Amino acid sequence: MQSILVTGGAGFLGSHLCDRLLEAGHDVLCVDNFFTGSKQNIRHLLANPHFELMRHDVTFPLYVEVGRIYNLACPASPIHYQHDPVQTTKTSVHGAINMLGLAKRVKARILQASTSEVYGDPEMHPQTEDYWGRVNPIGPRSCYDEGKRCAETLFFDYHRQHRLEVKVARIFNTYGPRMHPNDGRVVSNFIVQALRGQDITIYGDGQQTRSFCYVDDLIEGLVKLMDTPADFAGPVNIGNPCEFTMLQLAELVLRLVGGKSKLTFAPLPQDDPRQRRPDISVAQRMLQWQPRVSLEDGLKETIAYFRATLAR
Ligand code: NAD
Ligand code: UDP
Ligand code: UDP
Repeated sequence: MQSILVTGGAGFLGSHLCDRLLEAGHDVLCVDNFFTGSKQNIRHLLANPHFELMRHDVTFPLYVEVGRIYNLACPASPIHYQHDPVQTTKTSVHGAINMLGLAKRVKARILQASTSEVYGDPEMHPQTEDYWGRVNPIGPRSCYDEGKRCAETLFFDYHRQHRLEVKVARIFNTYGPRMHPNDGRVVSNFIVQALRGQDITIYGDGQQTRSFCYVDDLIEGLVKLMDTPADFAGPVNIGNPCEFTMLQLAELVLRLVGGKSKLTFAPLPQDDPRQRRPDISVAQRMLQWQPRVSLEDGLKETIAYFRATLAR
């Protein structure tokens, strides 16, 4: 049993990670400023004596005693991270510095939730970890992309300079229960629109691709990465390599939800990547991990969650 800090623990992925770590018998300290997270995501944990919640912004120093740190604090959807872009970069960069400083002081192993966005709009397909990416440094997505890239730099410099045990996960699009219904991400948008009988909004021609990982698979990958040998830092792609166009996703959601929604087309946002699919051979080799849940099965769980949430 260990004491584990999860920053961003009241968010979509963070709350599932808290569940998973408590089930494994650990003590969990959840730190969150509730910018995009919600108490609702962790309400079921508040009475658990092994769970502790702390309202705190990671851009400020944090002095606690823990054995391991999962650093997830950062808004993840374009609508939220572009709402206050300066704060987004601060969260990634100052947040990383503070959590790395904490890890250094208490000699804790620390994992960073990085992102496929470090590859930008990639010329290499699928993306392997040794690809350096194609990121616009001054566009609307840059606060997130460059913030996450700088955080990776900090993680590897603390590793080299201070011998810190770090792990960097590059997370690809993940979906599942507890996604925010209004965060503008494609899976939540399409499901909520279909459930409400509204038109499904396809940006651009719908031929751009993404690869969607179900949340349970993703969390399993993060936990396995944290448990790899001390000298393995990554980075490791964690995601599902099955690739779909946004039109295919819309049609699948419509089939599973039923109803009468139609497809409508809206302009493609600036710097929207054309294609994205992880090469997961490093994860398969180093973590003995690969996703198990198909898009159809994962969508069914997610649709059931949104059906219940919207009915409340
Ligand atoms: P989320 O927005 O649901 O969760 C982020 C959490 O961090 C929220 O609870 C939010 O309140 C909290 N937070 C934000 N700024 C903070 C700050 N300054 N101090 C303390 N807490 C703060 O998003 P998510 O989808 O759960 O993403 C979690 C992590 O995984 C993020 O770092 C994100 O970049 C990364 N990631 C997610 C995906 C995905 O598809 N969901 C893909 C790639 C990377
Ligand atoms: N820090 C923290 N908690 C700790 C130790 C450090 O939040 O338990 C912060 C501290 O504010 C510092 C940052 O982490 O600015 C980086 O710490 P480090 O020791 O690497 O650098 P320094 O203190 O020399 O700036
Ligand atoms: N998208 C869409 N309709 C929507 C929301 C998003 O067609 O209602 C598209 C978006 O332009 C992008 C893809 O779906 O090409 C994935 O978008 P999301 O914001 O979920 O993730 P990201 O772009 O960060 O991978």
